[in-house]
Parts: sequence; C-alpha cells; structure tokens
Amino acid sequence: MQTAGALARVARECAEDLAADGVVYAEVRFAPELHVERGLALDAVIEAVLDGFRAGSAGTGLKIRALLTAMRHAARSLEIAEAAVRWRDRGVVGFDIAGAEAGYPPSRHLDAFQFMQRANGHYTIHAGEAFGLPSIWEALQWCNADRLGHGVRIMDDIAVDPDGNAVLGQLANYVRDVRVPLEMCPTSNVDTGVCASIAEHPIRLLRELHFRVTVNTDNRLMSGVTLSSEFAGLVDVFDYGWSDIRWLTVNAMKSAFIPFDQRLALINDVIKPGFDAVLSDG
Ligand SMILES: [Zn+2]
Repeated sequence: MQTAGALARVARECAEDLAADGVVYAEVRFAPELHVERGLALDAVIEAVLDGFRAGSAGTGLKIRALLTAMRHAARSLEIAEAAVRWRDRGVVGFDIAGAEAGYPPSRHLDAFQFMQRANGHYTIHAGEAFGLPSIWEALQWCNADRLGHGVRIMDDIAVDPDGNAVLGQLANYVRDVRVPLEMCPTSNVDTGVCASIAEHPIRLLRELHFRVTVNTDNRLMSGVTLSSEFAGLVDVFDYGWSDIRWLTVNAMKSAFIPFDQRLALINDVIKPGFDAVLSDG
C-alpha cells in the first residue's frame, strides 16, 4: 500500500465490503504516515484513499468517512492532525492516535489534540486496550478525547460486590456520566489477549451498566471479522436480540463525527426503519 493506485484499490474494496455487509455509515481509520515509504506525500495518500472510498460506496447505501491516525511511537501527530483539518470537508471527519500504549501516553501528543480542539475538530484516542486506567484518564482529562478506542480497561475502575452490584470509581463514573463512547472490538480483544473469550468480554457488563458502548471491528483483516460477524458473536454468547443490536447501532451513530443533523437523519430515516422491519418479522 505504497502507491496511489494500490491505496485507492484497497479503500474501494473496503467500501464495497462494508456496503455488502449492510453497513450504512462507517468511519475508517488509517495512518497516512505508514504509506509514504515510496515517496508519496501525505496529501497524496489521503486523496487516494478518499477516491477509493468514493468509488466503492457510489450507488450503495453506505456513507463512508475517514479518520486520520497518527502512530503513538512516532512524532508526526501534529502534522497528521493538521491534515485531518485540511481535509475535513472532503471526507475526513476526525483524528486518532494508535499503536503501542505502554511508554507512549496520549499526553505525548498533546499539541496535536490541542490543535484539533482549537480547530473545533473531533478525535478519538485508542486507550485502555492493553494499558490500564492512566491511559484512559490521560486521554480524557488531559487530551479531551471525544471517544475512546477500546477503553476495555475501564473495568479496572469497576468492582462488583458479593451481591452482584457494580461499584464505579470516579473515572468510570465520569466515562458513564458524560457518555464517552467506547469503541469496543470484542474479537480483536480476544486475539490480542485482552480477554480470554467473548464470554469474558467487558462489553456485557458495560452494556448492562448503560455505558455508551458501541461495536466495532478494529480490523477486519487480521481478526477475520465483519461487523455482522461481531454482532453474531454477541448474539451467540450473550443471547442478544435485535433490540440489543439496535441499541448498540444507535449508540454508534449517535457517537459519529459527522454533523448532528446527518446523524439524526441516518438514525431516523435508515437505521430505525431497518430495525423496525426485522423486529416486526419477529
Ligand atoms: Zn485497536
């Protein structure tokens, strides 16, 4: 993926796959800085991917947008944030950092997050996947993340007493109180050893406790999943029904980075009628 042609093709096929899976809105993250080894400029990388998204989603029910990711271990986050703002009216809706958490706390990229804030931009931070509460705390209380990528380790701030009642610490309360969206990726978390099985995944308890839980694939290729297969896994293990899937889907749409009126239109005109149709089928 080091040429414009290859990037556009992968992006097009990504959009085609998502549309075929019944996805109506997607935010796909990628790291432009990983695609410059053969001399492409960052803007050329971004343009190729957006071209591919447009081609692959044309004529489908899919609206697809990009999040530009900066690598935590590198030092290009401000540059990537600037690109996210430069491209924001052309298919980029936000900024993200990803990569190894240990040793690379979110605050290392504070200048990039502050740039996004000053530009009234949106961003999510991968935090609390492998690393614990300090990473989540920094992402929210120093870096002001709009959403948390994974965030599963928020469980470290929730105790369940012998009667089965959950007792939330201050950070867990904050996350729930201000409705911080948690971008949960069950299969990926099992693959990377965050939890032993889907059955042990925190999504069950966090959903019961009414955190703003959303379901994501993290990566479709390495984990060999689709959004539908992720939902199917939750149905199998937790006995979720259509109403649970609708709740999770509406949560995700509410948490999207496109403007409020567009989110509302997708929820009311596409997502809810879609679920009404399957729910009335029984
Ligand atoms: Zn991830």
